[in-house]
Amino acid sequence: MKEIILAKYGEIALKGLNKNTFENLLIKNIKRRLAPLGKFDCTRQQSTIYIDALEEGIDPDTVMEKLSTVFGIACICKAGVFEKDFEDICRGAFEYLADTLEYAHTFKVEAKRADKRFPMKSPEICCELGGRILEKFPHLTVDVKNPEVTVTVEIRDTNAYVHAVKIQGAGGLPVGSSGKAMLLVSGGIDSPVAGYMMAKRGIHISAVHFISPPYTSERARLKVEQLCEKLTSYCGDIAFFCVPFTEIQEAIRDNCPEEYFTIIMRRLMMEIAQKLSDRDDCLALITGESVGQVASQTLKAIACTDAVCRMPVFRPLIGMDKTEIIEISRKIDTFDISIQPYEDCCTVFTPKHPKTKPTIEEIEKAQNSFDFSKMVQKAVENTEIKIIKI
Ligand code: ATP
Ligand code: MG
Repeated sequence: MKEIILAKYGEIALKGLNKNTFENLLIKNIKRRLAPLGKFDCTRQQSTIYIDALEEGIDPDTVMEKLSTVFGIACICKAGVFEKDFEDICRGAFEYLADTLEYAHTFKVEAKRADKRFPMKSPEICCELGGRILEKFPHLTVDVKNPEVTVTVEIRDTNAYVHAVKIQGAGGLPVGSSGKAMLLVSGGIDSPVAGYMMAKRGIHISAVHFISPPYTSERARLKVEQLCEKLTSYCGDIAFFCVPFTEIQEAIRDNCPEEYFTIIMRRLMMEIAQKLSDRDDCLALITGESVGQVASQTLKAIACTDAVCRMPVFRPLIGMDKTEIIEISRKIDTFDISIQPYEDCCTVFTPKHPKTKPTIEEIEKAQNSFDFSKMVQKAVENTEIKIIKI
């Protein structure tokens, strides 16, 4: 018996005239995600993508697992493929679903008849097949409201599909459907989660990381690259920009009042990130900030940082608690890397008493005591770029 995987999409189905573009992008992303496993045929029909392995020996569960990180898919099912003949469907269903039905207590049957030439209507298919299943598996009872197992029969143009096992997809929109943005990524817990959340809305992510050797180590940088590598499962390839920041941080230390160090540093990070965004066609910045988490994330501090931004700054974690952020970081498997104790440039020269309520005027005055423009330009020019591949 032949088995295929069905990927069902949710939100894309509502996209009207643009639906085609979203679907094509989703298929492209699926193919790229599955490429390491082998060759697949992907076709679409009625809000479903049919994924058919073209090579022997590909484990369907591995395919499902890989698909579960592709944004744009609402749910994924393994389905048996049968002739469009009711007897064949019944026989096939008994065999194909035997394990699932054996261990269940309650079930129901759902039918979708896309091919209206099929002689039985949907309610009739449900009723008949339900009866046959009860005969074959007498320990089962029907529960239409809250069944343990839903047996679904789909009658499509070329075949009938029967499935009962499904897993949740990653949701969201296909990566690349909403343009590109630059994620300011540190080695912490928050920024990788922020990148994941914006990628979920279809944004293609590039990443910028600031390093300050010798205050920050090579290991710290590698940790951030590892985090980005993890993100590629969801985000696809990531262009990684690594900015040498030591000279700027030392200039801040030597020329600006200590209580403003962090905010001035963050403003300069934003300036550099924007210049890199222009080169890389990114239309927005993304950070992992959350209100009140640290001194530089009070409303006044954020306003001071934002004052230098001419692009939208997305902060998807802004209203989240740390526990909620950690939950997502565990789900996307970045948590264990994030908690490795390496230093970040944000923790170099941190003031003992940072100003938690700075005003923009104060900060501008403090920052203007030194002309950073040449250093900013130099940092941009000396930025290293590498593509982190899926
Ligand atoms: P995270 O867990 O993401 O490190 P955080 O709670 O430690 O965040 P901060 O250190 O204040 O907060 O950093 C706030 C945000 O600034 C980060 O979420 C990230 O977007 C950005 N950021 C911090 N350090 C760096 C860095 N070295 N390179 C690039 N971006 C950074
Ligand atoms: Mg941090």
